[in-house]
Amino acid sequence: MPDALRSVLLSEDEIRRRVAELAAQISSDYASVDELLLVGVLRGAFIFLADLSRCLTIPRRVDFVALSTYGGETTTPGEVRLLLDLRTEVRGAHVLVVEDIVDSGRTLALLLRLLRARGPASLKSCVLVRKPARLEVDLSIDYLGFDIPDVWAVGYGLDWADRFRTLPYIAVVEPG
Ligand code: 5GP
Ligand code: MG
Repeated sequence: MPDALRSVLLSEDEIRRRVAELAAQISSDYASVDELLLVGVLRGAFIFLADLSRCLTIPRRVDFVALSTYGGETTTPGEVRLLLDLRTEVRGAHVLVVEDIVDSGRTLALLLRLLRARGPASLKSCVLVRKPARLEVDLSIDYLGFDIPDVWAVGYGLDWADRFRTLPYIAVVEPG
């Protein structure tokens, strides 16, 4: 484990097993739809989406959005910017947003609002990790991998100043 990291939070094995479980549940829930549109939130969700999408047994396509959050602690609700939009038509589609992590919940809440306004046939969310202690908005997550404590998590797509994204496990960064 790199020096800057304190401990492993979720091992490669735990993640692989949970992703397979989520994919099985999603494949079963969407068994009757023509096609599922997976919307990955760049950049953090790219690894989770890659693994999840390959475990699904139903017809699906993959597209991406990129979002940026303004400011820090003082950011007011809704101050999230769409940097990259979908290429795919959302109207009439069965959309599943795939996100790496939910902290305050503001980013995902905003994205869901934005997509719902485009008239999808259905809209749900799949999140790998959530920090329940940090939630600030009322947000229902349809498929959740894990709840984690209020720490800065890295690995499996999650970064710390662009480092550690490609670690196969999720670890806690050593503060300071
Ligand atoms: P929100 O507060 O809107 O739920 O989360 C905003 C964004 O903060 C997430 O999409 C993610 O990019 C980032 N974030 C929040 N907590 C963590 C964390 O523990 N590790 C990493 N790498 N990113 C995080
Ligand atoms: Mg994210």
